[in-house]
Amino acid sequence: MNLDRYIDLIKSGEVVAFPTETVYGLGTDAWNPDAIAKVFKIKGRPSDNPLIVHISDEAQIEDFALDIPDHAHRLIKAFWPGPLTLVLHKKPEVLDAVTAGLNTVALRMPEHPLALSLIKETGALVAPSANKSGSPSPTKAAHVFADFGDDFPVIDGEATRIGLESTVVDLTESFPAILRPGSISRKQIEEVLDTFVEESFFHHIEKPRSPGQKYSHYKPKAEVRWLSDDETMHNSKALYLVQSSSVESKNIIVYHNDLTLMARELYDRFREADIEGFTSVVIERFERKSPIAEALMNRISKAISN
Ligand code: AMP
Ligand code: MG
Repeated sequence: MNLDRYIDLIKSGEVVAFPTETVYGLGTDAWNPDAIAKVFKIKGRPSDNPLIVHISDEAQIEDFALDIPDHAHRLIKAFWPGPLTLVLHKKPEVLDAVTAGLNTVALRMPEHPLALSLIKETGALVAPSANKSGSPSPTKAAHVFADFGDDFPVIDGEATRIGLESTVVDLTESFPAILRPGSISRKQIEEVLDTFVEESFFHHIEKPRSPGQKYSHYKPKAEVRWLSDDETMHNSKALYLVQSSSVESKNIIVYHNDLTLMARELYDRFREADIEGFTSVVIERFERKSPIAEALMNRISKAISN
């Protein structure tokens, strides 16, 4: 795919949506304050919610971060490029708009080839999810068009492979802490670091370490709730997402414990529920065995509780 038009747009301070392996990002130059202001405005994002800087080369972390610990190098070696965001101490010159005034900065190298090709040409990009604040993150170009209009510049890389946002790990305190679960699990991170990793993503914390924990990004207009034990699936206005069922239909989707597939489709199902006029999305509880289970649980609980 020829990216010239999108590269030119970003170089002239515009905003372009692009695919990553997690969700679509709304990318703009990480060193251009006016362009970053546009990102907050377009999304309707609260200004106290910092952005993740996306890079294409490991050496670029030196442009943004200070005192980079050995843990960071180990995680980078194991998981980059990939769905893992590292929170590190920031260099003084990193723009306040990027970090929402925090003294830390979040960095990630995505693995999607279109994202990497773009960033190689433009330099580091800030890229929050390419949705309006409050609606589910986009996992298809069509979702971005739905939120920002048919003329919005979107690099179409088809449906994203993972479908949930990256795992965010804070390496600035005495213990590494997961601020947002994602497809790379706590167990995988503990194995690489050979140390205890905290979990700090419970969403009723008053002053969360990751400001984004205060906000629900994941909610459709339909009510989301868990399936009760004795509940029959007869409500034609409900979209049922379950693990096993003797019937499958337009509104009963069966995953057979394939949580990877469920994660990939979750936000698309949320959006589809609203388009199709379902009044609720009813989800059957699942076993938290696979690495993605924790992230899926986190996104669903947020959609339920907010
Ligand atoms: P999004 O790009 O919309 O998926 O959101 C980015 C997430 O990363 C939000 O939850 C932010 O609060 C979090 N984040 C970004 N920068 C930092 C940082 N410096 N410290 C802690 N969390 C951060
Ligand atoms: Mg988001």
